[in-house]
Amino acid sequence: MKDKPKSEFTGVIHGGQHLDPSYGGVSVPIYQSSTFAFKNAAQGAARFAGKEKGYIYTRIGNPTISALENSVAFLENGYGGMATSSGMSALTTILIAFLDKNSHMIGTEAVYGPSRMVVESELSRFGIEYDYIDTSDIKNIEAHLRPNTRLLFLETPANPTIILSDIRACADLAKKKGIPLVVDNTFSSPVLQKPLDLGADVVMHSLTKFLNGHSDVVGGIIVPKTEELFKRLRKVLTLMGGTMDPHQAWLVLRGIKTLALRVEKSQENAIKLAQFLENHPQVKWVNYPGLPSHPQHDLAKKQMKGFGSMLCFGLQGGYDAGRKMIDAVKLCTLAVSLGGVESLIQHPASMTHAGVPKEKREKAGISDDLIRISVGCEGYEDLKDDLEQALAQTA
Ligand SMILES: *Cc1c(COP(=O)(O)O)cnc(C)c1O
Repeated sequence: MKDKPKSEFTGVIHGGQHLDPSYGGVSVPIYQSSTFAFKNAAQGAARFAGKEKGYIYTRIGNPTISALENSVAFLENGYGGMATSSGMSALTTILIAFLDKNSHMIGTEAVYGPSRMVVESELSRFGIEYDYIDTSDIKNIEAHLRPNTRLLFLETPANPTIILSDIRACADLAKKKGIPLVVDNTFSSPVLQKPLDLGADVVMHSLTKFLNGHSDVVGGIIVPKTEELFKRLRKVLTLMGGTMDPHQAWLVLRGIKTLALRVEKSQENAIKLAQFLENHPQVKWVNYPGLPSHPQHDLAKKQMKGFGSMLCFGLQGGYDAGRKMIDAVKLCTLAVSLGGVESLIQHPASMTHAGVPKEKREKAGISDDLIRISVGCEGYEDLKDDLEQALAQTA
């Protein structure tokens, strides 16, 4: 399918897809082959020279992986997709493609923990400079720009604070300064937010989360807006070798078919749960973009098509009550990760963000009492009952 459908429900099933040319398989076959035979020397030479379309070697490209790449590129309105072995591999490919020795990047302060750690503890060894700051304030970004700034990296909504950054305003600033804007769109999925349409240059995902949706695969993807960026990133990815495996690609592609359905159901649950928690006497605060109390509720309405299913909250009893609560849940699973059909609950300060020093955590709004829930596709009444009984045990 090439034309834009009216509905995301159609796009996730048909977008960028075509029937298997060999036998017409409705589901794309798993081409579990590391290499592809050439008919003759001339064909091999033509493929390497890029004069003939076709496959050479799976680190460079593979039909099953291409089907996944085309699907996500279609959903994100990008030039093309590059599937990677993990979300972190998508990120490191982007960082290596855009940053040189002594160049500087600006990133969202409250990001996925390892996204920040890889820069602070590893890329810094190669002379890369960085500032992880509150990117919800455009003036703050402007104040941190340096002559050697080469990358603006946003995560919105951010993990785990669910704070938003204004993609269009950041894109305008980045354009003015000639810096690429990269957005980690993992928390929304393309069904709810399309950063490239808002002016971003590159979007990335951890496919492990909403796109795959079943907590059974780790993967990532990069989707740039232009051919030029695609070529640059593709070159780095094939050289660095963070390629996805065909079987992994097939599973994610299968998951994407139900992305719109899963997002709709989990979001419906999240809205109700956020309201339930906000009105619960033991809950001190709730952060969910769909609540009018969220400081960026209006921005969420402007740049997202829905508020998603990630929320965080703190209890009156603070850290200890929070720990008691996550030990008391029965239906929600105590686990990191997100975006699966099952609801997951976790405590970032002692789990996903334990590697970020406490002062930096607190400055980024990741308070010790913060509990994050990735709301799944179970029935709302069952989820509410579970949280209610767990809250009762913390009183
Ligand atoms: C999980 C996650 C990543 C990293 O992805 P992996 O697939 O675990 O490597 C990056 N960004 C965000 C927002 C994530 O949630």
